[in-house]
Amino acid sequence: MSADKGLLLTNTLTRTKEKFVPMDESNVRMYVCGPTVYDYAHIGNARPVVVFDLLARLLRQLYGANHVTYVRNITDVDDKINARARDEGITIRELTEKTAAQFHADMAQLGALNPDIEPRATEHIEEMKAMIETLVERGFAYVADEHVLFNVPSMPEYGELARRSLDEMVAGARVEVASYKKDPMDFVLWKPSGEGEPGWDSPCGIETPGRPGWHIECSAMSAKHLGETFDIHGGGVDLTFPHHENEIAQSRCAHGTPYMAKVWLHNGFLQVEGEKMSKSLGNFITVHELLDTDKVGGRKWDGEAIRYTLLQTQYRQPIDFTVKGLAEAEKQIQRWGDLFRKLEVVPSENPQPSAVVIEGLLDDLNTPRAFAALHKVARDARGGDKAAAQELADNLAFLGFNPKGWAEQQEETASNANVDPELAAFVEDLIGKRLDARRNKDFAESDRIRDELAAKGIVLKDSKNKDSGEIETTWSLA
Ligand code: AMP
Ligand code: ZN
Repeated sequence: MSADKGLLLTNTLTRTKEKFVPMDESNVRMYVCGPTVYDYAHIGNARPVVVFDLLARLLRQLYGANHVTYVRNITDVDDKINARARDEGITIRELTEKTAAQFHADMAQLGALNPDIEPRATEHIEEMKAMIETLVERGFAYVADEHVLFNVPSMPEYGELARRSLDEMVAGARVEVASYKKDPMDFVLWKPSGEGEPGWDSPCGIETPGRPGWHIECSAMSAKHLGETFDIHGGGVDLTFPHHENEIAQSRCAHGTPYMAKVWLHNGFLQVEGEKMSKSLGNFITVHELLDTDKVGGRKWDGEAIRYTLLQTQYRQPIDFTVKGLAEAEKQIQRWGDLFRKLEVVPSENPQPSAVVIEGLLDDLNTPRAFAALHKVARDARGGDKAAAQELADNLAFLGFNPKGWAEQQEETASNANVDPELAAFVEDLIGKRLDARRNKDFAESDRIRDELAAKGIVLKDSKNKDSGEIETTWSLA
């Protein structure tokens, strides 16, 4: 068996689409930078989670379920965390635990599996300190004013990933010009902690307790769980510089290796309704708001529709996330769910993807091509071809969807005809009141009505009427 399965990936290091050949096909190793846990994940943060979840599924398909190690860290030491905990009047630990739990709940609804290993920065402080000491011993880092700094000029290859000029890098890194730095590009490996900040015994003979910089966390955790070198390192394109450039510098210099990861993958950015997502523009959308509140488009959204939407664009391309796109994804899911209901199809126990779908994914995770192939299969299924419907369901399950759930939802909608008319009138009345509340943008009231009905075992589902653009609500008994 060859380790070359025909997978092509665009490597940021070389800027080319390359054949992927793992270093060890019995253990294909991937590291992805995970969340800094101080706030809800926004819809942009969900993109790398969904993209690399799909890549992990593809790698398991190609190399075997037990031959892939996917590591995604949790950054639970960071100045943003300290500030937020102070604002909320809770401990850092309470904040990071609460936020990590919410992150897991949100991502599970998007069909993302947990990574194989999810290391936390605060549980790897000793590994970080050891790495920092090695970097100082080898002359790549120095102690100054109770900080430990990586000396950028000591590594001639610095900047190879970002491919930027020194001037651009200085500007891009928004470097802090501190008097104790030997070079303006030098970055922090360790810094002193003040009163009320989390701190650990410092390395390199520094007396004051301190805490690690962000970049060293990923270098230490990836080395511990995947080794000094590994196959794939991923994250959003914004992390290319300085975060990934600095990870490479630290890891290569500490281990004396010619590379850190062989392939560097970066997902493109997500914007919302044509604009960069930002708190100040008021278009900042969290996954939690989409799933659990009526804030976006006046209704709650299904996590699978979000996954579907994110996968309609190839991972390297920018995405414009729109409510219209989400509603279309949902309609598609409903149509296919109805097809599975009518043809009585559920995914196989061990669903296998079709060759055409794999072909699309092998070409640098070309998900639009994979979905185009699925639409062809769906056309046959709509004509009543049960084998085609089975193929469609199996592919969707492989891609991380739950087509069985889609069929069951359609089942519920179809079976409301038998419900007690008095109950039906009561529910319809409240649905009307909720739509009014939403038109008045009283989302608290609309959420309250939804919760009141949920307490009675009634589940609402909203969708947009394609012709009128109005929101319509259907309901079912849970
Ligand atoms: P952060 O918590 O900011 O470090 O981001 C976590 C992950 O989400 C990183 O991989 C980022 O590159 C990625 N990310 C952040 N914002 C966006 C966005 N708007 N679109 C796509 N990816 C993003
Ligand atoms: Zn990282």
